[in-house]
Amino acid sequence: MKNHSPDKEIRLLPPQSQTGPGAVLIYPNSYSVGMSSLALHQVYRHFADAGLSVQRAFYDEAETDPRSFEMREPIFRFPLVAYSLTYEPDILHIVRHLNRSGIPPLWRDRDEQCPVVLVGGLGVAANPALAEEFADVICTGEGEMVIPHIAAAISAKDLNRKSRLEKLAEQEGLYVPPLGFAENRFALAYPVVTDLETCPCHSLFLTPDDEFGGAFLIEVSRGCSHRCKFCLVSHRVGQVRFRSGSSICGLVNEYGNRIRKVGLMGAAVSDHPDLTEVAEYLVGKGLSFSCSSLRADRLTDDLLALLRKGGNQTITLAPESGDEQHRRDLGKPIKDLVLFDAVERAGKVGFSKLRFYWLIGTPNRDLEGEIDAIIGCCREIERIFMVGGGCKITCIVSPWVPKAFTPFAGESMASAGEIRRAIRKIRRVLAFRGGIHVPPQSVWEAQIEGILSVRDRDFVTSRILRVSLGGEEARSVFC
Ligand code: SF4
Repeated sequence: MKNHSPDKEIRLLPPQSQTGPGAVLIYPNSYSVGMSSLALHQVYRHFADAGLSVQRAFYDEAETDPRSFEMREPIFRFPLVAYSLTYEPDILHIVRHLNRSGIPPLWRDRDEQCPVVLVGGLGVAANPALAEEFADVICTGEGEMVIPHIAAAISAKDLNRKSRLEKLAEQEGLYVPPLGFAENRFALAYPVVTDLETCPCHSLFLTPDDEFGGAFLIEVSRGCSHRCKFCLVSHRVGQVRFRSGSSICGLVNEYGNRIRKVGLMGAAVSDHPDLTEVAEYLVGKGLSFSCSSLRADRLTDDLLALLRKGGNQTITLAPESGDEQHRRDLGKPIKDLVLFDAVERAGKVGFSKLRFYWLIGTPNRDLEGEIDAIIGCCREIERIFMVGGGCKITCIVSPWVPKAFTPFAGESMASAGEIRRAIRKIRRVLAFRGGIHVPPQSVWEAQIEGILSVRDRDFVTSRILRVSLGGEEARSVFC
């Protein structure tokens, strides 16, 4: 794990006893991406609280003999090897990581000496088919609901491998493919925590090398009530739950002078009923802060002013479509007036940068119409926002990707060629006018994500094996 070391981190969790059976918690992507995932911190805490000796590991393409991050121990020595899978294509890293670690990637090849391999996270909860041939156990719910049971099963003495798996299978939210494939993977339970106050979820290690520059991340909400038709969060994670403002401020207070910035995390941050009070508290303490998501229809003047005082220069919004009716059809009914008004007020408060997320290739929609609507909407945004001059607008144009459990799950993606041409046209037209930056997107990565998100076990397994172990190019195998 070059250039990264536990010595460079600020540890907010007291040292663990390291006496229980070992668990290695692996993020199947780089250290920077993994440390930016609150799920990693949260699961680490719960495994440690449940009595396991936990270490972390990350995926590094150059690492041929993977080791744990903390103590550089070989992965196969841990009784529990747990992967957190949010982004579906990371399954390719998981299979390669298992193989390099000396653990047979297919569960049917494992014997009594092998660790129990667990895969959890939203990616696999949405489509367990991804990991059905690789994981001994798939977690299909929120970690807090199953971790005590996992720890008890791993700690139980005198159990052979089969009995241990049977014990794991007793818990709702744990699916054990070696005991039989689920007849209907969409019927697997997704148990959730009802009260976030019972499970503080925040950074346990601060590092300047994460994607938030070392911010103390706090989960302020889970789930989302808006139910946009393309969005996995609202259709798999369930009803929105909020952590109270007093408990968010209490957590910030607890870690006092070790924190300089705070990241408020969740799919529905701007729906939080106490967001303005929390923002006032953070600004009053002299802390900078950012929000992981904002909706144009929740941006009050007070909140915009506090975001500026909290050190933000950019407002990020995700209108998805440039056409008001299309936004309604997608389940995101933000009116043009509301969007343009938010842009105007952001400019007046002193924001110098705007970032927008757009989707193209959505079901039942003509691509040319989507392109024209995005271009028209961006021109209007530019007209409103650039009045003061010297401002920047970035537009991230991404292909729509099907996700299981959403109303669009059965729809097909536009072809890579069509999407590429569409993004090129948007870039050409908007960049020509000077002020709007449209970064290139990896279209084929989105195609792979789409396949892995919805296709069945046989289809994905053979392709994953060809790429992860056979060394074939993912692009040519999947696209
Ligand atoms: S508002 Fe955001 S998080 Fe909520 S359903 Fe829509 S896209 Fe998903």
